[in-house]
Amino acid sequence: LEPKEEFEHSSLTVDVMRPRRSDPALAVLTQEGMTVEEVEALVESTRYSGFPVVVSQESQRLVGFVFRRDLLISIDNARKRQEGVVGASQVVFTEHAPAHAADAPPPLRLRGIMDLSPFTVTDHTPMDITVDIFRKLGLRQCLVTHNGRLLGIITKKDILKHMAQIANRDPDSILFN
Ligand code: ADP
Repeated sequence: LEPKEEFEHSSLTVDVMRPRRSDPALAVLTQEGMTVEEVEALVESTRYSGFPVVVSQESQRLVGFVFRRDLLISIDNARKRQEGVVGASQVVFTEHAPAHAADAPPPLRLRGIMDLSPFTVTDHTPMDITVDIFRKLGLRQCLVTHNGRLLGIITKKDILKHMAQIANRDPDSILFN
């Protein structure tokens, strides 16, 4: 990433994170209560590289982060090998699988593929600090919270695009040089 002088006009992380006001909502998974089918539908309806996992849609408390490719591989493997995992199976990211009825299909437990401590910044963190964090820790993405609730996500590309806008240059020339 470029030197932080680009941010002297003091944008905040909330100005650069996604979703923007006009964007579709942040695509999240809940730690329990979704089926294999629902997770597959969510993953396939987007191109995002990863998905935050939250306690529930209502709480938006962050539990972890899973990469798209790990989700797809795990679901694919489970459907092939794990006895009884079907579209209607519950996907669980919790430590202990919730009790399931004897006639329900067995749950698919995916805690093992989740990053349990994804990096976060708050929405009001000045962008120069967020950029420093990205550079020092070599991040590709970081989650954004407000009062402990998940609010959005910011990726390295989002930052590069923002820098290009500030510099009033063609974003592609920076991204791919
Ligand atoms: P990149 O920015 O490197 O292309 P992604 O493909 O993951 O990475 O993200 C594409 C865009 O979508 C970025 O602007 C990012 O902030 C946003 N984004 C990433 N993950 C999600 C998500 N789960 N829900 C909503 N938006 C997301």
